[in-house]
Amino acid sequence: MEKIAKMVPADVGFVKAAYEGPDIAIYVSNIPLLYTDESVIRNISATVKKKLIVRSDSAKLMAADKAIEIIKTIIPPDAGVSNVNFVSEFGEVYIEALKPGLVIGKSGSTLKSIVVQTNWVPKVLRTPTMNSDVIKGVRQMLVKESAFRKKFLTSVGKKINQPIGKSEWIKATALGGFKEVGRSSMLLETNHSKIIIDCGISPEPSIKGSDAVTDDENKAFPYLDSANVTMNDIDAIILTHAHMDHIGFVPYLFKYGYEGPVYCTPPTRDLAALLLYDYIKLVQRSGGTPLYDEKDVKKMLMHMITRDYGEVTNVTDEIKLTLHNAGHILGSSQLHLHIGEGLYNIVYTGDMKYGFTKLLDMADTKFPRIDALFIESTYGGNNNITARRQDEELELMDSIKRTIQGGGKVLIPVISTGRAQEMMLVLESYLTANSNYKLDVPVYLDGMILEASAIHTAYPEYLKLNLERRILNNRSPFESEIFEIAKGERSSIMDKGPAIILASGGMLNGGVSVEYFKEMAPDPKNKLIFVGYNSTSSMGRRVQNGASEVVLPDENGKLVPIAIKMQIETIDGFSGHSDRRQFLNYIENLKPSPKKIFTMHGEESRCEELARALGGRLHVEGRAPMNLDTIRLK
Ligand SMILES: [Zn+2]
Repeated sequence: MEKIAKMVPADVGFVKAAYEGPDIAIYVSNIPLLYTDESVIRNISATVKKKLIVRSDSAKLMAADKAIEIIKTIIPPDAGVSNVNFVSEFGEVYIEALKPGLVIGKSGSTLKSIVVQTNWVPKVLRTPTMNSDVIKGVRQMLVKESAFRKKFLTSVGKKINQPIGKSEWIKATALGGFKEVGRSSMLLETNHSKIIIDCGISPEPSIKGSDAVTDDENKAFPYLDSANVTMNDIDAIILTHAHMDHIGFVPYLFKYGYEGPVYCTPPTRDLAALLLYDYIKLVQRSGGTPLYDEKDVKKMLMHMITRDYGEVTNVTDEIKLTLHNAGHILGSSQLHLHIGEGLYNIVYTGDMKYGFTKLLDMADTKFPRIDALFIESTYGGNNNITARRQDEELELMDSIKRTIQGGGKVLIPVISTGRAQEMMLVLESYLTANSNYKLDVPVYLDGMILEASAIHTAYPEYLKLNLERRILNNRSPFESEIFEIAKGERSSIMDKGPAIILASGGMLNGGVSVEYFKEMAPDPKNKLIFVGYNSTSSMGRRVQNGASEVVLPDENGKLVPIAIKMQIETIDGFSGHSDRRQFLNYIENLKPSPKKIFTMHGEESRCEELARALGGRLHVEGRAPMNLDTIRLK
């Protein structure tokens, strides 16, 4: 802090510097001067090796009512500003706009004018092109709770910057999701740090009383109790992406006293809010008791610190985290952890796709250093080889076409974040632009798909370039006229003619897909197409394996047998996970090569087969640890 005070030029008027999470905020009395020479900040930042945030001393902030008038004259009207919030705790003004580029201006010129004329520092947020209650809610909460956020970030910053001794050892403990899919969690420890990576619950809430699901509570949650850590011991939680099997247990930790930070990308935060609130509703509706309630989810959101891909962040004094694209769903990350000064480097892939999708670029393969690689294995088995994506698309469309022409309906159950959007992009491109497939049928969207898609439109820079361009140019495929919102009109959709239905609840374990399934299953003209992973104990897996009848509760909760006469198909090529070939390509292209490989997030045989294959390819140790194993890395 002393170094910083000395480096700020006298006429800028250094007031104070304070920790703010992993960053440092400096407050000055003459902020416009700092904007005339940006090298000052760059130099300080390079010297202290931290991200610097510059703020105006609160006494110098222009009154909000005056500042808003000035801001209105500076920002061009085409920017589509939808919301402006002054957050005095941080000396920041949050400007939400449809076209953030116009609020920023050429090389930041418009932003600069706002600072120079008002002393407020603008933070520009993109308004989603589709209405999103989740994004509205999260952003409002962050403004409303800014006093708490400031206190929280200061205390996190103090803790991170506490110098600690040199660590001698590093170990990783498998708490969940090893040799299985679900409840992913790993504890990473050194002499001085304890980090939890992901903390999920087993795949999806199951339907009470249905005969497919072994409601085994012992397999639902990570083995945190075995790890011998109290909530206060944990320095940080890091989340790879917003799927329940990676995030579903985090609010529970807050319920039982965790008060530290949760690191993830901004889209992961927003998708997590959507999923966790929905999970609570779903469990309540099915008559169960959720693990935690809304206030625990809110507490978690208030403790989140978001980072974009490529930003290097200290999560403790000795551990630096960098998030890299994982290609799995919006905002999904591979974690690169650098421990100590050159002591050890870990890459943890989370769920990962190293192959073509319409939605996202494929996973990054360039890292500064890698000693140990932890890699998912969902489709890592020797036989998990999918056909070419192009062929899979044609197979899907031909299959849909046959059913539609035969007078039936097609149900595609999808996990609402990720697979749903990928399927929307495939359907949109064929149904609107390929004359062979202009079927002229509605595509109904039901469940959380719409809200999840809306969140995608707030983060186009996380999507593939051509998709980003379409969203920015107001031609978002998610808003194509082929899509119709099905909210609450299930029976009228059932009474109408042929249609394609995308319904959330990919494994038929809950969500609206089950309701459609119950009504459509008895008619042999209809078809169900699985495009994602079904866990071994899910209803989806049973149906996929050819069950001729399943038992499900009717609208009064009474269990009734459902005869399955509809056609059942599986098309694997749309998965957000790598297949065997893609894993091998990933490991060949991974720079540098890891010295050890550990597999996780896959059925037992697949974890073992992938560990053997990848280790063999690189002539290094390849291992499939099981839950509760502890591995000494250093
Ligand atoms: Zn996932």
